[in-house]
Amino acid sequence: MFKKLLIANRGEIAARVARACSALGITSVAVYSDADRQALHVRACDESYYIGPAPAAESYLRGDKIIEVALAASCDAIHPGYGFLSENARFAQAVLDAGLAWVGPSPEAISLMGSKIESKRLAERNGVPVVPGYFGDEQSIDRLVSEAGRVGFPLLVKASAGGGGKGMRVVEQPSVLVEAIEGAQREALAAFGDRSVMLEKYLAEPRHIEVQVLGDQHGNLIHLGERDCSIQRRHQKVVEESPSPAIDNEIRARITSSALALARAAGYTNAGTVEFIFQGGEYYFLEMNTRLQVEHPVTEEAIGFDIVQAQIRVAAGERFALDQESVHFGKHAIEVRLYAEDPERGFLPSTGTITQLSARIGPNIRIDAGVDRGDAISPYYDPMIAKIIASGEDRSEAIRAMRDALGSLELRGLNTNLDFLRWLVAHPQFESGDFSTRFIERYYTPGAFAAPPIEILVGGAAILTLAPSHKDVKDPWTNIAWRQAQQQIPCRFQVEGRTYHALLSRISGQESRWQANISQGDTAIYDGSLDIDLPYDAVATGSFSGQAASIRLRFDGNDALRNVILAGRGDCECTLAWQGREYVVRQAPPVSTETLSTVIHVRDEDTLESPMPGKVLKVLAKPGDTVSEDQPLVIIEAMKMEFTVRAPHDGIVAAMHYKAGDQVSVGDILAEMEK
Ligand code: ADP
Ligand code: ADP
Ligand code: MG
Repeated sequence: MFKKLLIANRGEIAARVARACSALGITSVAVYSDADRQALHVRACDESYYIGPAPAAESYLRGDKIIEVALAASCDAIHPGYGFLSENARFAQAVLDAGLAWVGPSPEAISLMGSKIESKRLAERNGVPVVPGYFGDEQSIDRLVSEAGRVGFPLLVKASAGGGGKGMRVVEQPSVLVEAIEGAQREALAAFGDRSVMLEKYLAEPRHIEVQVLGDQHGNLIHLGERDCSIQRRHQKVVEESPSPAIDNEIRARITSSALALARAAGYTNAGTVEFIFQGGEYYFLEMNTRLQVEHPVTEEAIGFDIVQAQIRVAAGERFALDQESVHFGKHAIEVRLYAEDPERGFLPSTGTITQLSARIGPNIRIDAGVDRGDAISPYYDPMIAKIIASGEDRSEAIRAMRDALGSLELRGLNTNLDFLRWLVAHPQFESGDFSTRFIERYYTPGAFAAPPIEILVGGAAILTLAPSHKDVKDPWTNIAWRQAQQQIPCRFQVEGRTYHALLSRISGQESRWQANISQGDTAIYDGSLDIDLPYDAVATGSFSGQAASIRLRFDGNDALRNVILAGRGDCECTLAWQGREYVVRQAPPVSTETLSTVIHVRDEDTLESPMPGKVLKVLAKPGDTVSEDQPLVIIEAMKMEFTVRAPHDGIVAAMHYKAGDQVSVGDILAEMEK
């Protein structure tokens, strides 16, 4: 067995591999970038080495540097985790050439199966069904367009080397085909260094079902059952479970033997996943992931087996102790991915610092986290915060455990999909097990889950409008005078990712009575009178002593008094507590960013904002250009996705504020237009 293993990754997966090392008595070695000096994975490993600046290309993707570190630290193996260099055959070969063991399949198997095109051809040759499409070498636009006509619409353009939903476009009609092909090629080239694309028929209501396989170097190859990963947004998984509630034992036997046939044909060793889509009782091969998968814990919990330890043993040349018959398919397990992202705004990634993170963990709950309280989610890497895995004797027991775990989770400091996940696992259609990859599209509309209580909205609006923060106030008397002079005070603010409008109008002659009007989008939330009694300090001096203070509210004159606790105060934001739960209320940025579509098509606005933090990839227009509605103006890239900002109407570009390569934040003005 190895003595020392370097983990060429970060976040939760690096911490996960470190756990397996410690169970096997292996010394674990972390590598880290400037952004990760204090990161959890560094703390989780026995040793750690700095490898470069924050951008992945200068650190976690620097294969040469990583091998150098491994040799200098006298490691005998490298585990690549997932993402980064894990599916890079050249890196795997370089690791072997340096005399180190590679915890993964052979470089040959990675390059054969890492190409969606090559692996589909291999599947066809081995009698494994594939989705109809074009998997040819010729990549001219003309050829692709004519093949698209043969495949029919809707279709998918996919990067052959793609992964993580990147380089993939759904094309509904021929008119947008060329733009989609070019976009997929560009994304593929930037992300994978290979611009080849393929075309696939787009199935309407499929499920995603994948088979975990594991092979040793002595010719043994087994499967560890299937996972159902149908709950996706943007073609990326959010919830996974095993076994699949959608297939019976007959399909299960067929799909797992197809997966094994393909893995065998590829000469596959170590852990890998064969992905299929399943519709109308038929399954079709999608791709093989030649690495450990994000959702491997689902299988581990369902069958009681440690895949990462097995990967390391296999790489060290050990023979399996396990044969197919002794794999015990007993339990049901479900995983949800907790992301720093905003479900209210098209699931776009967000960044920030985690100020609170805690959960009540029952016996059926496992949490694989990459961060802890105080850690930041930076724009450099994947926005996944943690995976929560619940298991049970059957599916309903696992769902119940998951609901409890999510209910008890406290997470503050940034926008996350936590409320969305709570909503999702409580949904009757999820409970029924009957859904396709379109679940989210079909059942989720922004605002679908429980909104913050009215007390928080009114209390937040009152603090933000009537008690400006210390920074805004030079002279406390000016503040009071200003407040007394105002007859109507408008405010836009956000709570838990949702944006609200408030208008407080003074009821004449009454010091602390207002007419309050609060709405979210077009929906009125409160329209009535309000008595507001704010803590003296907060109002008069704009300062906050740090001691919790009370905001006293009385709705519609006669209602009972509500005490909302003011627990914190910063510039443009405050933390309020009501009935034991805390909420951060923030002043919203000036231009409407309520939904993704209002950002893309700000109807009467000529100011186009960046909908997410990221890097400007391409600027497609210049000041003075005449553009038509929907024409792409700027392409932004963040984490794992590309986002196109389009012209809201026909008109002239008045200004472009950034150039390719610039870093932008949410709300930064990218371009201005005039009619
Ligand atoms: P999987 O197929 O393993 O379930 P996804 O397809 O959603 O997971 O995403 C996996 C891919 O996403 C990885 O191959 C990688 O490209 C990227 N990825 C996900 N998480 C991370 C991470 N923490 N660091 C780097 N890349 C990541
Ligand atoms: P990636 O490399 O990004 O994981 P995949 O080819 O595995 O790309 O596809 C990711 C997801 O996209 C699938 O899980 C499925 O939901 C959807 N998808 C892929 N191909 C098709 C298709 N032909 N029809 C319908 N949905 C598809
Ligand atoms: Mg995939």
